[in-house]
Amino acid sequence: MLTNKPKGTNDFLPDEVGRWQALEDLLREVSRLYGYREIRTPIFEHTELFQRGVGETTDIVEKEMYTFTSKGEKSYSLRPEGTAPTVRAYVENKLYAQPQPTTKLYYIGPMFRHDRPQAGRYRQFHQYGIEALGSDDPALDAEVIAMAMDIYRRLGLKDLTVELNSVGCPNCRLQHRQKLQEFLAPKKEQLCKTCQGRYERNPMRILDCKDSNCQKLTEGAPTIDQMLCPECQSHFTAVQKHLHALEVPYNLNSKLVRGLDYYVKTAFEIVATGIGAQGSVGGGGRYDGLIEQIGGPAMPGIGFALGLERILLAMKEQGLDLVADNPVEVFIATMGEDAQLMGSKLSQQLRQEGFAVERDYGNRSFKAQLKAADRYQVRYTLIIGEDELKNNMVQVKDMATGKQEPVALAEVQVYLNRNIRGREINE
Ligand code: AMP
Repeated sequence: MLTNKPKGTNDFLPDEVGRWQALEDLLREVSRLYGYREIRTPIFEHTELFQRGVGETTDIVEKEMYTFTSKGEKSYSLRPEGTAPTVRAYVENKLYAQPQPTTKLYYIGPMFRHDRPQAGRYRQFHQYGIEALGSDDPALDAEVIAMAMDIYRRLGLKDLTVELNSVGCPNCRLQHRQKLQEFLAPKKEQLCKTCQGRYERNPMRILDCKDSNCQKLTEGAPTIDQMLCPECQSHFTAVQKHLHALEVPYNLNSKLVRGLDYYVKTAFEIVATGIGAQGSVGGGGRYDGLIEQIGGPAMPGIGFALGLERILLAMKEQGLDLVADNPVEVFIATMGEDAQLMGSKLSQQLRQEGFAVERDYGNRSFKAQLKAADRYQVRYTLIIGEDELKNNMVQVKDMATGKQEPVALAEVQVYLNRNIRGREINE
């Protein structure tokens, strides 16, 4: 027990973390290019935020939240997604009062859902998400989708499709709700227990149920795209026009409703083939009522969330990798106590200069130290023995060529700057 991690969670060991850091670097860079700035919100929030924000009839809130009470206080939940917390922080900190009309925020971090774990589906997983708050311009919807595709393109991912739909606004949904209830009425008893409850409260959610029997029962059900009001229809047409202009291909998918209640109008999902049943690598949409629902002004918003584990899985599937920089640059091998002291001093000096330095501890044999240097795959090993100590110098061994040359102690920094950084520094 003590050595087992909780089901559905992962340890990321240093080699793997290098890949994550490279991915995160890329995400931060693309965020910058599109004008998004990072926001960091708590890992847990008041449960009510998700009940109100994500929706009480969604799978996430109904079945998947990690909810707890802390010492008799209120109910809290680990965040299952990032939009409601971001919008909460936007409202609480009155970011809407800033001079710029659209606030662009992004987040990277863990999310928690008590789901059945399988390849690509975890109980703690990581999302990168963006939220653009304050504009309902269809050009923004298209840009948000294009940005997600830009990220995948930079990673080299292929064979991704954008599934696009408009889920309308509360007005069009009213009509859809009625039609859907009429369609489902004769099958109501056959629906799963959760969906029977949804029939009255939020029948559209039934279209999103993971239960295969419910999925069968909803085949041929009326879809929202046939009932869009003129405003939603023209918004949707404009989004598509912009996507054409940006040369982002997409599939219209009238069945796409997405698992969160806050979406209106544009909803999209990005699907990868070849990573199994959990093919969705990202998704998002417009949520024009959410800011108001959470207690802020009536302002529109749109965003997406990408699943980082799924992205890395899709990359692996396609033979792509993100290479992290080799961390250690210089190894210092010493023989004898005095040489070790000199090695310690030199390590600190070189680290101050910005070189990643590693050494061997425990006074092991010279051979063992060189072996360690090999394992670290350093560029240079600095060797300090009795002679070098006496003459205030080191032997610099180029690990690629095996060549070795003496360098005066005072010249080591200059030597490494020249050969590793390609910089001339005269001291
Ligand atoms: P959602 O917040 O449900 O719209 O999900 C957005 C993205 O997060 C999905 O497209 C997945 O890539 C990822 N995701 C959602 N749930 C999980 C999970 N349980 N495990 C891993 N990734 C997930």
